[in-house]
Amino acid sequence: MVKFLVLIFLGFLIYRAARRYMTLGQKAEQSPGEGSVDEMVQDPSCMTYIPRRSAQRKVVGGKEFFFCSKECVEKFEKEMRAQQ
Ligand SMILES: [Zn+2]
Repeated sequence: MVKFLVLIFLGFLIYRAARRYMTLGQKAEQSPGEGSVDEMVQDPSCMTYIPRRSAQRKVVGGKEFFFCSKECVEKFEKEMRAQQ
């Protein structure tokens, strides 16, 4: 029972860290001058984190996105088109 509670607590911490990380990522996009550090960005298609400088960059609808591969770019573009 205690282990179960610890797991829930850990999950909550990870969730909070992930949310904070996403907010930081959005701020970094607005100030492109600070891209010298090997910052991690999230691929919105497969939800993987990749180093920003080795990521595939794509601007969709005025927003900047980063992907791990061309396949993910294509998949994301298809999904965006399907939503419109
Ligand atoms: Zn990907």
